Amino acid sequence: MSERKVKIRLGIDIGGTAIKAVALDSSLSILETYQTSSFAKQEGEEGVHRALKTVMERFQGFDVESAGIGCAGSVDHANGIVINSPNFAHWKNVGLRAWFTETFSVPCKIDNDANCAVVAEWKLGVARGYDYVVLLTLGTGVGGGLILAGEVYRGTHGAAAELGHFSIKADGKLCNCGNRGCFELYCSATTLRNQFPEHSAKQIIQRREQEPYKSAIASFIENLITGITSIANVFDPQLVVIGGGIMNGMGWALADIERSVKERAFPAIAKDIRVVSAEHANWAGALGAALL
Ligand SMILES: [Zn+2]
Repeated sequence: MSERKVKIRLGIDIGGTAIKAVALDSSLSILETYQTSSFAKQEGEEGVHRALKTVMERFQGFDVESAGIGCAGSVDHANGIVINSPNFAHWKNVGLRAWFTETFSVPCKIDNDANCAVVAEWKLGVARGYDYVVLLTLGTGVGGGLILAGEVYRGTHGAAAELGHFSIKADGKLCNCGNRGCFELYCSATTLRNQFPEHSAKQIIQRREQEPYKSAIASFIENLITGITSIANVFDPQLVVIGGGIMNGMGWALADIERSVKERAFPAIAKDIRVVSAEHANWAGALGAALL
């Protein structure tokens, strides 16, 4: 007699260096997580295809009912196409959903990784029960995700919520995206590492009581407050969720950030707004992908 396999939703997060996957059961509990060893980015699409095959082999003991894939960059969610991705310079309009569905005979949806992360926090994390949520992930760059009126907001081309790329300095540094003074140039892990290349962002934050790190972190936080206040005034959210590697070491700053945002934002917006830390950290992308 053949044994019946457990049905799962699989969530896959294609990062710059590895692929993470999460299996959820029908009650949305995590059954298993898996991370591939690093894959060769220069192999482009083929490298990713091979890594995805490894992921599917790993979960072959389950009945994969549906899959979701999160990927950095501009993703056309409706048509299942990765328009471009900062992790894969040569990718242009990659039909990732069609490839996945044909290869594994599993229905699949794809979305931007930060959209996946905000869905994870909204359905299974700190933003549960809220209808207006902004997520910022502070990592190598700054990613953004928006829940507006109880739905993921993707814009006309699926490319909305690039919250790392609104300008906070008109005459600021030139960004890879072509704009000047983008928020992420002043508020990402890269911002801190560029100032002190001998340390990781985590090490710099650990030295926050000593100069010159103290001043660098103070200016980082000031820029973060400037950005969040503008975002708050545009979207009038109930909750601003901050995630990304840097936040692990910066929980101490959240109360001050929230207080300053409340002082500077429009009074009606400031009244109830909260600035909180993300709950799902590094697995939010994969988790949210499973919920697509
Ligand atoms: Zn930019």
